[in-house]
Amino acid sequence: MPGPRRTVFATRAPTFEKNLIPSRKGAKIERMAEDSDYAGALRSAALRVTRPRMAVLQAVEQHPHADTELIIRAARDVLPDISRQTVYDALNALAATGLVRRIQPAGSVARYETRVADNHHHMVCRSCGVIADVDCAVGDAPCLTASDDLGFDVDEAEVIYWGFCPRCTASRMSRSHP
Ligand SMILES: [Zn+2]
Ligand SMILES: [Zn+2]
Ligand SMILES: [Zn+2]
Repeated sequence: MPGPRRTVFATRAPTFEKNLIPSRKGAKIERMAEDSDYAGALRSAALRVTRPRMAVLQAVEQHPHADTELIIRAARDVLPDISRQTVYDALNALAATGLVRRIQPAGSVARYETRVADNHHHMVCRSCGVIADVDCAVGDAPCLTASDDLGFDVDEAEVIYWGFCPRCTASRMSRSHP
């Protein structure tokens, strides 16, 4: 288990998306700004800064709850020659240091996200498999308070809400009421 988790991207992620500039020149500037942040995040986790690790971190940040296949495709947009094994190794290093969080709902392959350290939970659609974030109470993590912690030093509560997403609910309704 990784130690206490650091908040690295949780508050920064939306800023990146807002600042994405479509022009070629703007995109290049944005890429450089992101690179320096990814490098800083790697250093803060005592990881050596490498292009593959930065590419994988960027891929996970831009595709929350992505599986490995999507992360490989996204990383190859940045580093066309990156191998599958290199992506696996980078994901393992990033997850081990808590820079990314690995979640694996039952029946799903592993998914990754850079939203760490806030003990948020997930809502999973039984039909299409879409995964959405559910906040814990703001400024608190009540699910970490077990009715009896049995003497454990608890640092994470994994809660998954299962159900049907709005789109699947609507299509189920229209099927049963044509
Ligand atoms: Zn669904
Ligand atoms: Zn999440
Ligand atoms: Zn909670």
